[in-house]
Amino acid sequence: MSSVYKSPPPEMAAYSPPLTPPSKPARMPKGDPEPIDLHVPDNYVQHTLRTQKELPPITWSNWWRELQYLTVAILTITPTLALYGVCTTTLRWETALFSVFYYYVTGLGITAGYHRLWAHRSYNASRPLQYFLALAGSGAVEGSIKWWSRGHRAHHRYTDTDLDPYSAHYGFWWSHIGWMLVKPRRKPGVADVSDLSRNEVVRWQHRWYVWLILGMGFALPTLVPGLGWGDWRGGFFFAGALRLTFVHHSTFCVNSLAHWLGSTPFDDKHTPRDHVVTALVTIGEGYHNFHHQFPMDFRNAIKWYQYDPTKWFIMACRAAGLASHLKTFPDNEVRKGQLTMQLKKLRRTQERLEWAPDSNELPVVTWESFQEQSAKRPLILIAGFIHDVAAFLDEHPGGRHLLVKYIGKDATTAFFGGVYDHSNAAHNLLSMHRVGILQHGYRQGADDRAVPPAQRLRIARYNEMGASSTAVSDAETVVGEGGEREGKGEKDV
Ligand SMILES: [Zn+2]
Ligand SMILES: [Zn+2]
Repeated sequence: MSSVYKSPPPEMAAYSPPLTPPSKPARMPKGDPEPIDLHVPDNYVQHTLRTQKELPPITWSNWWRELQYLTVAILTITPTLALYGVCTTTLRWETALFSVFYYYVTGLGITAGYHRLWAHRSYNASRPLQYFLALAGSGAVEGSIKWWSRGHRAHHRYTDTDLDPYSAHYGFWWSHIGWMLVKPRRKPGVADVSDLSRNEVVRWQHRWYVWLILGMGFALPTLVPGLGWGDWRGGFFFAGALRLTFVHHSTFCVNSLAHWLGSTPFDDKHTPRDHVVTALVTIGEGYHNFHHQFPMDFRNAIKWYQYDPTKWFIMACRAAGLASHLKTFPDNEVRKGQLTMQLKKLRRTQERLEWAPDSNELPVVTWESFQEQSAKRPLILIAGFIHDVAAFLDEHPGGRHLLVKYIGKDATTAFFGGVYDHSNAAHNLLSMHRVGILQHGYRQGADDRAVPPAQRLRIARYNEMGASSTAVSDAETVVGEGGEREGKGEKDV
């Protein structure tokens, strides 16, 4: 579980060759179809978006010509039948239980089969499991494995672009159902499925697909309650039509709800999001932010308490000896994504706070000028910085007299324990009163006292490193700036 590839346990060796063997021959075996994306130009995405013609936008005058009538029929007749059935048929508890059970069976056909096995090759399945998933997935009536996986691989490869067949940038309803109801506005981006063309089970399902959807979508869910407890009508309407409506919209939510609702704990470059509601609705496909970052991982949910029955099903299949090579992304890399997002959040908090003036922004002041100006206003020198404490004189918890005593003097020792060892909060506050730097009096990096505690661990982008003395996490990185500062002309405070 800890590495991406593992060699199969000895008992698995008899299974069909792994879909993604750890090492592949450098050349394609003779006779195998060549991957369709082998010769795409380096600027494929840009080139295609610029040169490929799009179908015209859908308007009131052309919509009836642009509809995909077969899909429209399936997606309207099914819920209509379901509604009619619900209003006219008594629901028996046996049929209700079976409908829920069959919802999970056909849903898992899509999530564990179409999605995680065939589209993403996140584990290997034995032939019996593959046939089971192909049959179950047919019962969800969402197209053949090959067609579905081709579209889904394009969705991952071109997420949120016009080459993504269900780009979330066109809105919730487009990604949920709209993209199927009308002719695709442009061809989905290229995505290789030659591995699936070689797969015997995928080919078998593609060939018999119409019979399989009739059998698994309607005949079987009618037959089981009919033969089992005499509820033919309930079987057809509840386990057939109503269950199919739920499976449809449940899996469609992976393209819509999962790109719309929730948080982005692993990356925020694209629209996929994590949310428990989406997980509950989609048999565990709701941790979609994780999934788009680590699509070859057989899991969607990485915490044990998160709802991912598809993952549990795959693990159960492994325990039963039906699945192997369950892939997981290295935990170390998963944590990097999480840390980056946490730091981004902290950075926003950091940016909302006010900080002491940067040492580069302060004027350099001679000792004589400091003395001269201290006579006019209360200036105190601490750790090389000159502070104007006028606004703080009466607020000082130790009393005004202790501040007055150090006007025009160096209070570094007194501040850092000589008289009182001030708190970090006091040090932070002190830095907000900085008005200048004493010439030759300041050596950054020589002393932690020069950097306020709240600024010792600041978050900085890599291109801000060294750009300013206090934007880096610790003082040691800017040793040497003192010389430059000394060269600056004397200024008034
Ligand atoms: Zn997605
Ligand atoms: Zn996916």
